[in-house]
Amino acid sequence: ERFPVVVLGAGPAGLTVANALRAASVDCLVLETESRQFVEQRPRAGVLEEPVVRGLERRGLAGNLLRRAGRHTACEFRFDGAAHRLAYADLTGRHHFVYPQPLLVTDLIREYADVRGGTLRFEVRDVALHDTDTDHPSVSYVCPETGRRRLVHCDFVAGCDGARGVSRSVLTARHARIARHDYGIGWLALLAETPPSADCVLFGVHPGGFAGQMPRSPEVTRFYLQCPPGDDPENWPHERVWSELRRRLAAAGTPPLAEGKLLEKRVLDMHDYVVEPMAAGRLFLAGDAAHLTAPIAAKGMNLALHDAFLLGDALVAYLTAGDDSGLAGYSAACLRRVWDYQEFSQWLSDVYHGASSGDPYRAGTTLARLRRLFASPAAASAFVEQYLGTADHYGD
Ligand code: FAD
Repeated sequence: ERFPVVVLGAGPAGLTVANALRAASVDCLVLETESRQFVEQRPRAGVLEEPVVRGLERRGLAGNLLRRAGRHTACEFRFDGAAHRLAYADLTGRHHFVYPQPLLVTDLIREYADVRGGTLRFEVRDVALHDTDTDHPSVSYVCPETGRRRLVHCDFVAGCDGARGVSRSVLTARHARIARHDYGIGWLALLAETPPSADCVLFGVHPGGFAGQMPRSPEVTRFYLQCPPGDDPENWPHERVWSELRRRLAAAGTPPLAEGKLLEKRVLDMHDYVVEPMAAGRLFLAGDAAHLTAPIAAKGMNLALHDAFLLGDALVAYLTAGDDSGLAGYSAACLRRVWDYQEFSQWLSDVYHGASSGDPYRAGTTLARLRRLFASPAAASAFVEQYLGTADHYGD
Protein backbone atom coordinates (compact mmCIF):
# COMPACT_ATOMS: atom_id res chain seq x y z
CA GLU A 1 0.00 0.00 0.00
CA ARG A 2 1.23 3.51 -0.71
CA PHE A 3 0.19 7.05 0.27
CA PRO A 4 2.19 10.25 -0.26
CA VAL A 5 1.75 11.12 3.42
CA VAL A 6 1.03 9.02 6.51
CA VAL A 7 -0.27 11.07 9.44
CA LEU A 8 0.03 9.53 12.89
CA GLY A 9 -2.70 10.67 15.28
CA ALA A 10 -6.27 11.94 14.83
CA GLY A 11 -5.95 14.86 17.24
CA PRO A 12 -6.28 18.54 16.32
CA ALA A 13 -2.79 18.61 14.73
CA GLY A 14 -3.02 15.43 12.63
CA LEU A 15 -6.54 16.08 11.40
CA THR A 16 -5.69 19.64 10.37
CA VAL A 17 -2.64 18.48 8.38
CA ALA A 18 -4.76 15.75 6.79
CA ASN A 19 -7.53 18.20 5.85
CA ALA A 20 -5.01 20.55 4.21
CA LEU A 21 -3.65 17.66 2.13
CA ARG A 22 -7.10 16.50 1.01
CA ALA A 23 -8.11 20.06 0.10
CA ALA A 24 -5.18 20.01 -2.34
CA SER A 25 -6.17 16.52 -3.57
CA VAL A 26 -3.06 14.94 -1.99
CA ASP A 27 -3.82 11.47 -0.68
CA CYS A 28 -3.01 10.66 2.87
CA LEU A 29 -3.61 7.99 5.48
CA VAL A 30 -4.38 8.89 9.10
CA LEU A 31 -3.59 6.19 11.66
CA GLU A 32 -5.09 6.49 15.16
CA THR A 33 -4.68 4.09 18.08
CA GLU A 34 -7.99 4.97 19.78
CA SER A 35 -11.56 4.53 18.50
CA ARG A 36 -13.47 7.28 16.71
CA GLN A 37 -15.91 7.52 19.60
CA PHE A 38 -13.08 7.90 22.09
CA VAL A 39 -11.30 10.74 20.29
CA GLU A 40 -14.60 12.52 19.61
CA GLN A 41 -15.39 12.53 23.33
CA ARG A 42 -12.00 13.05 24.99
CA PRO A 43 -12.37 16.26 27.00
CA ARG A 44 -9.31 18.49 27.11
CA ALA A 45 -8.82 22.00 25.81
CA GLY A 46 -11.38 24.63 25.05
CA VAL A 47 -9.77 28.02 24.56
CA LEU A 48 -8.79 29.05 21.04
CA GLU A 49 -6.98 32.19 20.05
CA GLU A 50 -8.57 34.38 17.42
CA PRO A 51 -5.65 34.12 14.92
CA VAL A 52 -5.89 30.32 15.16
CA VAL A 53 -9.63 30.42 14.51
CA ARG A 54 -8.94 32.61 11.46
CA GLY A 55 -6.40 30.02 10.31
CA LEU A 56 -9.03 27.28 10.56
CA GLU A 57 -11.56 29.51 8.80
CA ARG A 58 -9.20 30.16 5.87
CA ARG A 59 -8.87 26.39 5.47
CA GLY A 60 -12.64 25.84 5.49
CA LEU A 61 -12.52 24.18 8.93
CA ALA A 62 -14.32 26.66 11.19
CA GLY A 63 -17.96 26.47 10.05
CA ASN A 64 -19.44 24.90 13.18
CA LEU A 65 -16.96 26.61 15.42
CA LEU A 66 -17.93 30.10 14.27
CA ARG A 67 -21.62 29.25 14.68
CA ARG A 68 -21.36 27.60 18.08
CA ALA A 69 -18.28 28.82 19.97
CA GLY A 70 -18.59 31.14 22.92
CA ARG A 71 -16.74 34.48 22.76
CA HIS A 72 -14.82 35.60 25.80
CA THR A 73 -14.00 39.26 26.25
CA ALA A 74 -12.45 39.27 29.74
CA CYS A 75 -10.74 37.25 32.41
CA GLU A 76 -10.79 37.77 36.13
CA PHE A 77 -8.02 37.42 38.70
CA ARG A 78 -9.12 36.88 42.28
CA PHE A 79 -6.62 37.69 44.99
CA ASP A 80 -6.59 39.32 48.42
CA GLY A 81 -10.32 38.55 48.70
CA ALA A 82 -11.24 40.79 45.73
CA ALA A 83 -12.15 40.24 42.08
CA HIS A 84 -10.10 42.13 39.44
CA ARG A 85 -11.52 41.98 35.93
CA LEU A 86 -9.28 42.40 32.90
CA ALA A 87 -11.56 43.35 30.00
CA TYR A 88 -9.12 42.51 27.22
CA ALA A 89 -11.60 43.04 24.40
CA ASP A 90 -11.91 46.68 25.50
CA LEU A 91 -8.13 47.02 25.30
CA THR A 92 -7.60 45.25 21.99
CA GLY A 93 -10.94 44.74 20.23
CA ARG A 94 -10.17 41.01 20.19
CA HIS A 95 -11.51 38.02 22.08
CA HIS A 96 -10.99 34.34 22.83
CA PHE A 97 -13.16 31.58 21.38
CA VAL A 98 -14.37 28.81 23.67
CA TYR A 99 -15.03 25.59 21.77
CA PRO A 100 -14.44 22.24 23.47
CA GLN A 101 -11.71 20.17 21.84
CA PRO A 102 -13.98 17.10 21.29
CA LEU A 103 -16.31 19.24 19.17
CA LEU A 104 -13.42 20.51 17.08
CA VAL A 105 -12.03 16.99 16.64
CA THR A 106 -15.51 15.76 15.61
CA ASP A 107 -15.77 18.55 13.01
CA LEU A 108 -12.29 17.84 11.65
CA ILE A 109 -12.94 14.08 11.32
CA ARG A 110 -16.23 14.67 9.51
CA GLU A 111 -14.66 17.15 7.13
CA TYR A 112 -11.66 14.94 6.39
CA ALA A 113 -13.32 11.54 6.12
CA ASP A 114 -16.92 12.28 5.18
CA VAL A 115 -16.59 15.46 3.05
CA ARG A 116 -13.04 15.38 1.63
CA GLY A 117 -12.96 11.59 1.26
CA GLY A 118 -9.77 11.00 3.26
CA THR A 119 -8.69 7.61 4.63
CA LEU A 120 -8.59 7.17 8.40
CA ARG A 121 -7.97 3.97 10.35
CA PHE A 122 -8.87 3.81 14.03
CA GLU A 123 -7.75 1.40 16.75
CA VAL A 124 -4.50 0.46 15.03
CA ARG A 125 -1.86 -1.09 17.28
CA ASP A 126 1.95 -1.21 17.56
CA VAL A 127 2.67 1.59 15.09
CA ALA A 128 6.31 1.61 13.94
CA LEU A 129 8.24 3.98 11.67
CA HIS A 130 10.87 2.76 9.23
CA ASP A 131 13.56 4.42 7.11
CA THR A 132 12.45 7.98 7.84
CA ASP A 133 16.05 9.10 7.18
CA THR A 134 15.73 7.94 3.58
CA ASP A 135 13.48 9.18 0.76
CA HIS A 136 11.40 5.99 0.92
CA PRO A 137 10.04 5.87 4.49
CA SER A 138 7.28 3.54 5.60
CA VAL A 139 4.98 2.96 8.54
CA SER A 140 3.71 -0.36 9.81
CA TYR A 141 0.92 -1.16 12.23
CA VAL A 142 -1.15 -4.07 13.46
CA CYS A 143 -4.60 -4.05 11.91
CA PRO A 144 -7.38 -4.39 14.54
CA GLU A 145 -9.59 -6.61 12.34
CA THR A 146 -7.01 -9.19 11.24
CA GLY A 147 -4.33 -8.90 13.95
CA ARG A 148 -1.78 -8.81 11.09
CA ARG A 149 0.97 -6.24 10.58
CA ARG A 150 0.52 -4.03 7.52
CA LEU A 151 3.17 -1.93 5.81
CA VAL A 152 2.43 1.43 4.18
CA HIS A 153 5.02 3.12 1.96
CA CYS A 154 5.01 6.89 1.78
CA ASP A 155 7.04 10.03 0.97
CA PHE A 156 6.50 11.75 4.33
CA VAL A 157 5.43 10.90 7.86
CA ALA A 158 3.63 13.56 9.92
CA GLY A 159 4.13 12.62 13.58
CA CYS A 160 1.07 14.13 15.25
CA ASP A 161 0.64 11.36 17.82
CA GLY A 162 0.65 13.50 20.94
CA ALA A 163 2.60 13.27 24.17
CA ARG A 164 2.42 9.47 24.35
CA GLY A 165 3.07 8.63 20.72
CA VAL A 166 5.99 6.88 19.06
CA SER A 167 7.26 9.45 16.58
CA ARG A 168 9.04 11.69 19.11
CA SER A 169 11.37 8.90 20.21
CA VAL A 170 12.43 8.25 16.60
CA LEU A 171 13.62 11.85 16.42
CA THR A 172 15.15 12.13 19.89
CA ALA A 173 17.02 8.83 19.52
CA ARG A 174 19.32 10.31 16.90
CA HIS A 175 18.54 13.76 15.58
CA ALA A 176 17.02 16.00 18.19
CA ARG A 177 17.50 17.05 21.77
CA ILE A 178 14.69 17.40 24.21
CA ALA A 179 14.51 20.28 26.70
CA ARG A 180 12.35 19.63 29.74
CA HIS A 181 10.95 21.64 32.60
CA ASP A 182 9.14 20.30 35.64
CA TYR A 183 7.15 22.80 37.71
CA GLY A 184 7.01 20.49 40.73
CA ILE A 185 3.29 21.27 40.94
CA GLY A 186 0.14 19.24 40.32
CA TRP A 187 -3.25 20.42 39.12
CA LEU A 188 -6.40 18.51 39.84
CA ALA A 189 -8.26 18.89 36.53
CA LEU A 190 -12.02 18.70 37.00
CA LEU A 191 -15.00 18.77 34.70
CA ALA A 192 -18.26 19.54 36.46
CA GLU A 193 -21.84 19.30 35.31
CA THR A 194 -22.66 22.87 36.20
CA PRO A 195 -22.96 26.23 34.44
CA PRO A 196 -20.00 28.56 34.95
CA SER A 197 -20.35 30.93 37.90
CA ALA A 198 -18.96 33.87 35.94
CA ASP A 199 -19.04 34.78 32.24
CA CYS A 200 -15.27 34.48 31.97
CA VAL A 201 -12.18 32.58 33.00
CA LEU A 202 -11.36 32.96 36.71
CA PHE A 203 -7.84 32.70 38.14
CA GLY A 204 -7.78 32.39 41.92
CA VAL A 205 -4.35 33.22 43.36
CA HIS A 206 -4.60 32.11 46.96
CA PRO A 207 -2.19 31.18 49.78
CA GLY A 208 -3.90 27.76 49.84
CA GLY A 209 -3.05 27.16 46.16
CA PHE A 210 -4.17 28.20 42.67
CA ALA A 211 -7.77 27.58 41.56
CA GLY A 212 -9.21 28.21 38.10
CA GLN A 213 -12.55 28.18 36.38
CA MET A 214 -12.74 27.80 32.59
CA PRO A 215 -16.26 27.84 31.13
CA ARG A 216 -16.76 25.19 28.44
CA SER A 217 -20.51 25.25 27.70
CA PRO A 218 -23.73 26.31 29.43
CA GLU A 219 -23.86 22.85 31.05
CA VAL A 220 -20.22 21.94 31.68
CA THR A 221 -17.41 23.87 33.37
CA ARG A 222 -13.75 23.05 33.83
CA PHE A 223 -12.09 23.76 37.17
CA TYR A 224 -8.51 23.36 38.32
CA LEU A 225 -7.13 23.07 41.85
CA GLN A 226 -3.42 23.15 42.58
CA CYS A 227 -2.39 20.00 44.47
CA PRO A 228 0.82 18.10 45.20
CA PRO A 229 2.25 16.46 42.06
CA GLY A 230 1.29 12.80 41.87
CA ASP A 231 -1.63 13.31 44.27
CA ASP A 232 -4.35 10.66 44.12
CA PRO A 233 -7.65 12.04 42.73
CA GLU A 234 -9.37 9.86 45.35
CA ASN A 235 -7.97 12.27 47.95
CA TRP A 236 -10.40 14.80 46.50
CA PRO A 237 -13.98 13.74 47.29
CA HIS A 238 -16.86 15.94 46.12
CA GLU A 239 -17.11 17.94 49.37
CA ARG A 240 -13.39 18.73 49.54
CA VAL A 241 -13.29 19.82 45.89
CA TRP A 242 -16.13 22.28 46.26
CA SER A 243 -15.05 23.69 49.62
CA GLU A 244 -11.51 24.32 48.25
CA LEU A 245 -12.88 25.91 45.07
CA ARG A 246 -15.13 28.16 47.17
CA ARG A 247 -12.26 29.11 49.47
CA ARG A 248 -9.68 29.79 46.76
CA LEU A 249 -12.04 31.61 44.39
CA ALA A 250 -13.74 33.68 47.12
CA ALA A 251 -14.00 37.39 46.36
CA ALA A 252 -16.17 40.11 47.84
CA GLY A 253 -19.36 40.84 45.93
CA THR A 254 -19.22 37.75 43.66
CA PRO A 255 -21.99 35.14 43.48
CA PRO A 256 -21.39 31.75 45.14
CA LEU A 257 -20.02 28.97 42.92
CA ALA A 258 -22.67 26.77 41.32
CA GLU A 259 -21.85 23.21 42.35
CA GLY A 260 -22.48 20.10 40.29
CA LYS A 261 -21.57 16.49 39.71
CA LEU A 262 -17.88 15.92 38.92
CA LEU A 263 -17.57 14.24 35.51
CA GLU A 264 -13.78 14.06 35.38
CA LYS A 265 -11.13 14.18 38.08
CA ARG A 266 -7.47 13.80 37.05
CA VAL A 267 -4.17 14.93 38.48
CA LEU A 268 -1.86 16.57 35.92
CA ASP A 269 1.79 16.93 36.85
CA MET A 270 2.76 20.26 35.38
CA HIS A 271 5.65 19.85 33.00
CA ASP A 272 6.85 21.07 29.62
CA TYR A 273 9.15 19.72 26.94
CA VAL A 274 10.41 20.93 23.58
CA VAL A 275 12.00 18.77 20.87
CA GLU A 276 14.57 20.61 18.75
CA PRO A 277 14.55 20.38 15.79
CA MET A 278 11.01 19.15 15.13
CA ALA A 279 11.95 17.34 11.92
CA ALA A 280 14.62 15.09 10.43
CA GLY A 281 14.69 13.39 7.06
CA ARG A 282 11.12 12.62 6.05
CA LEU A 283 9.63 12.77 9.56
CA PHE A 284 7.97 16.00 10.72
CA LEU A 285 6.49 16.33 14.22
CA ALA A 286 3.56 18.63 15.05
CA GLY A 287 1.67 19.49 18.23
CA ASP A 288 2.15 17.69 21.55
CA ALA A 289 4.39 15.12 19.86
CA ALA A 290 6.99 17.89 19.53
CA HIS A 291 6.26 20.10 22.51
CA LEU A 292 4.15 20.04 25.60
CA THR A 293 3.05 23.16 27.41
CA ALA A 294 1.36 22.52 30.74
CA PRO A 295 -2.25 23.82 30.58
CA ILE A 296 -1.16 26.86 32.65
CA ALA A 297 -1.59 29.28 29.74
CA ALA A 298 -4.05 27.20 27.64
CA LYS A 299 -1.68 27.21 24.66
CA GLY A 300 -1.28 23.52 23.75
CA MET A 301 -4.08 23.17 21.22
CA ASN A 302 -3.30 26.58 19.74
CA LEU A 303 0.31 25.63 19.15
CA ALA A 304 -0.72 22.24 17.77
CA LEU A 305 -3.00 23.91 15.22
CA HIS A 306 -0.39 26.46 14.30
CA ASP A 307 2.18 23.73 13.59
CA ALA A 308 -0.43 21.91 11.54
CA PHE A 309 -1.17 24.97 9.38
CA LEU A 310 2.53 25.33 8.55
CA LEU A 311 3.11 21.62 8.00
CA GLY A 312 -0.02 21.13 5.88
CA ASP A 313 0.86 24.11 3.67
CA ALA A 314 4.52 23.04 3.38
CA LEU A 315 3.66 19.45 2.40
CA VAL A 316 1.14 20.66 -0.17
CA ALA A 317 3.70 23.11 -1.65
CA TYR A 318 6.28 20.35 -1.96
CA LEU A 319 4.01 17.58 -3.20
CA THR A 320 2.07 19.68 -5.72
CA ALA A 321 4.69 22.23 -6.86
CA GLY A 322 8.10 20.87 -5.78
CA ASP A 323 8.63 23.90 -3.51
CA ASP A 324 10.61 22.75 -0.46
CA SER A 325 11.03 26.12 1.29
CA GLY A 326 8.15 25.55 3.71
CA LEU A 327 9.49 22.17 4.80
CA ALA A 328 13.02 23.54 5.16
CA GLY A 329 11.87 26.38 7.43
CA TYR A 330 9.15 24.45 9.26
CA SER A 331 10.91 23.56 12.51
CA ALA A 332 12.46 26.99 13.08
CA ALA A 333 9.17 28.76 12.35
CA CYS A 334 7.26 26.59 14.84
CA LEU A 335 9.90 26.72 17.54
CA ARG A 336 9.99 30.53 17.72
CA ARG A 337 6.35 30.54 18.82
CA VAL A 338 6.74 27.47 21.00
CA TRP A 339 9.54 29.09 23.03
CA ASP A 340 7.59 32.34 23.27
CA TYR A 341 4.71 30.48 24.89
CA GLN A 342 7.01 28.39 27.09
CA GLU A 343 8.32 31.67 28.49
CA PHE A 344 4.78 32.97 28.99
CA SER A 345 3.82 29.76 30.83
CA GLN A 346 6.78 30.26 33.18
CA TRP A 347 5.74 33.82 33.87
CA LEU A 348 2.12 32.85 34.46
CA SER A 349 3.08 29.91 36.64
CA ASP A 350 5.00 32.26 38.92
CA VAL A 351 1.86 34.41 39.19
CA TYR A 352 -0.50 31.48 39.83
CA HIS A 353 1.69 29.60 42.28
CA GLY A 354 3.76 32.30 44.01
CA ALA A 355 1.20 33.07 46.72
CA SER A 356 1.08 29.42 47.82
CA SER A 357 4.82 28.71 47.51
CA GLY A 358 5.34 29.02 51.27
CA ASP A 359 8.02 31.62 50.51
CA PRO A 360 6.91 35.07 51.72
CA TYR A 361 9.34 36.73 49.30
CA ARG A 362 7.78 34.99 46.25
CA ALA A 363 4.30 35.70 47.63
CA GLY A 364 5.18 39.40 47.86
CA THR A 365 6.52 39.67 44.31
CA THR A 366 3.54 37.70 42.96
CA LEU A 367 1.09 40.16 44.45
CA ALA A 368 3.17 43.07 43.12
CA ARG A 369 2.94 41.59 39.60
CA LEU A 370 -0.80 41.12 39.94
CA ARG A 371 -1.37 44.65 41.21
CA ARG A 372 0.76 46.01 38.37
CA LEU A 373 -1.48 44.26 35.81
CA PHE A 374 -4.37 46.39 37.03
CA ALA A 375 -2.44 49.60 37.71
CA SER A 376 -0.32 49.82 34.56
CA PRO A 377 -1.88 49.80 31.07
CA ALA A 378 1.53 48.85 29.63
CA ALA A 379 1.73 45.79 31.92
CA ALA A 380 -1.86 44.85 31.03
CA SER A 381 -1.23 45.06 27.29
CA ALA A 382 1.97 43.02 27.54
CA PHE A 383 -0.01 40.29 29.32
CA VAL A 384 -2.94 40.45 26.91
CA GLU A 385 -0.66 40.25 23.88
CA GLN A 386 0.64 36.88 25.05
CA TYR A 387 -2.63 35.67 26.49
CA LEU A 388 -4.66 36.30 23.32
CA GLY A 389 -1.88 35.64 20.80
CA THR A 390 -1.33 38.17 18.06
CA ALA A 391 -1.51 37.68 14.33
CA ASP A 392 2.21 38.53 14.35
CA HIS A 393 2.78 35.49 16.49
CA TYR A 394 1.37 33.52 13.61
CA GLY A 395 3.23 35.29 10.85
CA ASP A 396 -0.06 36.23 9.16
P1 FAD B 1 -3.47 14.94 20.71
O1 FAD B 1 -4.73 15.72 20.83
O2 FAD B 1 -2.94 14.28 21.94
O3 FAD B 1 -3.67 13.88 19.56
C1 FAD B 1 -2.74 12.84 19.35
C2 FAD B 1 -3.48 11.61 18.86
O4 FAD B 1 -2.55 10.58 18.54
C3 FAD B 1 -4.40 11.03 19.92
O5 FAD B 1 -5.70 10.88 19.38
C4 FAD B 1 -3.77 9.69 20.28
O6 FAD B 1 -4.74 8.73 20.64
C5 FAD B 1 -3.06 9.34 19.01
N1 FAD B 1 -1.92 8.43 19.15
C6 FAD B 1 -1.14 8.20 20.23
N2 FAD B 1 -0.18 7.31 19.94
C7 FAD B 1 -0.33 6.98 18.65
C8 FAD B 1 0.38 6.13 17.75
N3 FAD B 1 1.46 5.43 18.16
N4 FAD B 1 -0.04 6.02 16.49
C9 FAD B 1 -1.12 6.74 16.05
N5 FAD B 1 -1.83 7.56 16.85
C10 FAD B 1 -1.43 7.68 18.13
N6 FAD B 1 -4.72 23.44 25.13
C11 FAD B 1 -5.23 24.67 24.83
O7 FAD B 1 -4.83 25.27 23.82
N7 FAD B 1 -6.19 25.26 25.60
C12 FAD B 1 -6.68 24.66 26.72
O8 FAD B 1 -7.59 25.22 27.36
C13 FAD B 1 -6.13 23.38 27.10
N8 FAD B 1 -6.60 22.71 28.18
C14 FAD B 1 -6.15 21.44 28.44
C15 FAD B 1 -6.66 20.76 29.52
C16 FAD B 1 -6.23 19.47 29.82
C17 FAD B 1 -6.80 18.76 31.00
C18 FAD B 1 -5.24 18.84 28.98
C19 FAD B 1 -4.77 17.43 29.27
C20 FAD B 1 -4.74 19.52 27.89
C21 FAD B 1 -5.17 20.82 27.61
N9 FAD B 1 -4.67 21.51 26.50
C22 FAD B 1 -5.14 22.79 26.24
C23 FAD B 1 -3.68 20.90 25.61
C24 FAD B 1 -4.32 20.29 24.36
O9 FAD B 1 -5.36 19.41 24.71
C25 FAD B 1 -3.25 19.58 23.54
O10 FAD B 1 -2.17 20.46 23.36
C26 FAD B 1 -3.78 19.12 22.17
O11 FAD B 1 -4.64 18.03 22.30
C27 FAD B 1 -2.62 18.75 21.24
O12 FAD B 1 -3.12 18.24 20.04
P2 FAD B 1 -2.32 17.15 19.22
O13 FAD B 1 -3.11 16.89 17.99
O14 FAD B 1 -0.90 17.57 19.10
O15 FAD B 1 -2.27 15.86 20.17
